[in-house]
Formats: sequence, structure tokens, C-alpha cells
Amino acid sequence: FKRINDSMGHLIGDRLLQKIANRLNQSIRSSDTIARLGGDEFTVILDDINRPEDAALLAEKLLHKISSKLVIDGHEMFVSCSVGISLFPLHGDDNQTLIKYADIAMYQAKEEGKNCYRFYNQDMSDQNEARLQLETELRHAVSDGEISAYYQPKVCIKTKKIVGFEALARWYHTDSGFISPAVFIPLAEEIGLVGKIDLAILEQACKEGKRWAQQGHNMKIAVNISGNDFNHPDFLSMVRRALEQSDIDPQYLELEITEGVLIGFGQAQLDLMRQLVALGVSLAIDDFGTGYSSLSYLKKLPVQTLKIDRSFIKSLDHDRKDQVLVAAIINMAHSLGLTVVAEGVEELSQLTFLEANLCDMSQGYLCSPPIPADQAFELLVRTNATCECTSDSETSAEIT
Ligand code: C2E
Ligand code: MG
Ligand code: MG
Repeated sequence: FKRINDSMGHLIGDRLLQKIANRLNQSIRSSDTIARLGGDEFTVILDDINRPEDAALLAEKLLHKISSKLVIDGHEMFVSCSVGISLFPLHGDDNQTLIKYADIAMYQAKEEGKNCYRFYNQDMSDQNEARLQLETELRHAVSDGEISAYYQPKVCIKTKKIVGFEALARWYHTDSGFISPAVFIPLAEEIGLVGKIDLAILEQACKEGKRWAQQGHNMKIAVNISGNDFNHPDFLSMVRRALEQSDIDPQYLELEITEGVLIGFGQAQLDLMRQLVALGVSLAIDDFGTGYSSLSYLKKLPVQTLKIDRSFIKSLDHDRKDQVLVAAIINMAHSLGLTVVAEGVEELSQLTFLEANLCDMSQGYLCSPPIPADQAFELLVRTNATCECTSDSETSAEIT
């Protein structure tokens, strides 16, 4: 609904709601009640049912009715819905509680793939409460500056030198220990907090990069950028400010954007990418191969680096199909003038394959997991001083 409303205008959005309301009306008995409580959420009260299954039957009927084709002003469109069901008196005996629980069940239906219905149960409330608590704690952690950057090296496969790092957000929770960014980043995206996290990591990474450069180790540092940042009007100025405040040379900053996010990019986001490049920073496509995107965007985007997703690297030593795909991706990226990084390299055999296929860089536990800044710097100094290549660190940074 939101997409139709945003792209086709509120008038069409209103007509859509009216049509849906009619469809709901046609599906219920005259003794039932239907209301729109807000936005695109409707509530149905079935006053008199014999068994919970009766509510389920109606939910199925509604799902079917709503998902059939709609035509508004000559535009064909399809919408779907998610249904949550709470029962009186089993789940509660006042309207507030019943609506709240139906809402929780509806969110569960959304999470489980949408276009389905779910009955409320106590586990959902427990999950909901746990999520709310995590959300509050994350808000505190962000405002108290408790999200810090860890750094994982990227190694030049040819010279075995460290030629860059990726800064990864870390949240240490006093009770639960480290919470994975795979958990808190999607949560932060949902509640509009990810921009603050990305900015914090960007500022830390720029400062660290400058500190290392002052000690004679110019290193390209990459930070991850959420799709939400690309819709933030101040994002460009935020990057510019981080560069100015740290005084880092922009050529040593890279922004990683996951392939999945790029698919939804329009002209405004493409322009922003070009403006970022004009600042002197470089852009990388992260998790390449997982986003089901068309390859034609590769030649359109102003990116310099392509990172092959870990899922292709994992079985590289025995899966023939992964071998063929990885070799093809490296070839294609090189033909387009892109640098290729393999993500999640854990085994020597994987590195050997990547080396034979001329992949530029590897990143993964084989060299090091993400580690705190001081340890990362120590590792950098130690590795680049002892590796077989004789070129100095300035030159190794150039390899990127
Ligand atoms: P990513 O950007 O693709 O980062 C690589 C992830 O793979 C990291 O997980 C890293 O710890 C993990 N990894 C690296 N080498 C290996 C390996 O050899 N084996 C295995 N099994 N894993 C390896 P992490 O730190 O948990 O981050 C997960 C994802 O969260 C990142 O994937 C990135 O998409 C997102 N993320 C992390 N920090 C930030 C941030 O500051 N901002 C935003 N927007 N997203 C972030
Ligand atoms: Mg990344
Ligand atoms: Mg990745």
C-alpha cells in the first residue's frame, strides 16, 4: 500500500482503501463489524462465532478476496494482506487487549512471509516484549556511544600484504555479551536508527585511518552503508564532515553497499553515488551474487570494487558450480575494471583457488576475524613487515 501511495499519489491510495473496504464488507455478515483503525489497517469483529476455526475460515476468505486484481483509473494492481486473530475470552476480555493481541499476531503473520493469518499466542507477546526491550537498549547504546568499530583486514592475494580493512559495528551488551550486527542492524533499520550507527562507525573509521596514516600506514578503510542512508537528505554532508573532521585523505575511504539494496536505487540514489565519488571516496558492492539483480547495473554504477559473497566461497574447494561461478564473477568484474574481494575466506584451499583465478583480495578468518583498532594496527605492522613482498606500505595501499 505504501509503495502505491508513494508512487501513484494519495488519490489512488484513497481509492485503493475504498475498494479494499468494499471487499471486506462483501465478505462479512451483517452482524459483524468492520472498521479502519488507521493507515492501511482494518479491524473486523466477529460477534458470534462457534469455533476459532470460523475466524480462520473468514481470514482465508479475506486473504483470497483482497489479493485478486484491482483496477483503479486504468491501473492494474495487486495487494496482499496479513491477518492476526485474537479470541474472546481466551486471549482477553476487553477491547484494548484483544486489539493489541490481534496486532501482535498480524505482525507475526507479516514476519512469516505475509499474505497469511496467525492466531495470537503467549510466545508472540514474549517475543514482542524481548524485541521491545532490545530496541530500548539499542537506543541507549547508540546515544551513549557504545557501538564501536572492529576492523577486519583485506589482504592482497598476490603480495600477501594487508591492503585495507573493513570496519564492522560491534555492540557489547552487559548481560548478553556481543550482539551480532546481523541482529541489531536490521532492527536499527526498522526503527530508523541505522543512520546514527553508520555515522558513528564512519567517524571512528576515518579517525583511525588518519591515525594509521600518520604512523606511516596509509590503508583504505571500508565502512558499511545501509540503504536507508541513501534516502537521508544529509548523508552527503555527513560523509564530507567526517572526512574534514578526521582530515583523512578521501581516497582511503570506501563505502560498501550491499547488492540487494542497489536493486531499489533510482536516479536520486545514483546521483548521490556520483556525488560521493566526486568527494574522492570509492564505492564497493557488498555481498555480490545474493541480490538477484540484473547485471546491467554493474556498468551503470560508479563502483570500484566488487565483493563476492561468502556463500560462494564457503564450498569453493569441493563445489564445482561455485568454482565456475566465482571464476566467472572475477573475470566479468575484471573486464569491467573492478577490483574483486572474496569474502569469508577461511581455508588455504579457497585462497589457492582464488589466487589461481586472479582474485585481487581476500577477507576472512584465514587472515583474521574483525578485531579492535589497536590489535588491527599491530597486525598490520607485523604482517606487512614480515610478508614476502618488499614493496612499502604506501605502494601496498595503492594496490587497492
Ligand atoms: P558484511 O559487510 O558482508 O561483513 C562481513 C561479515 O562476515 C562480518 O560479519 C564478518 O565478521 C563476517 N566474516 C568475515 N570473515 C568471515 C569468515 O571467514 N567466516 C565467517 N563465517 N564470517 C566471516 P558481521 O560483523 O557479523 O556483520 C554482519 C553484517 O552486518 C555485515 O556484513 C554488514 O552487512 C552488517 N554491518 C556490520 N557493521 C555495519 C555497520 O556499521 N553499518 C551497517 N549498515 N551494516 C553493518
Ligand atoms: Mg561489508
Ligand atoms: Mg559482505
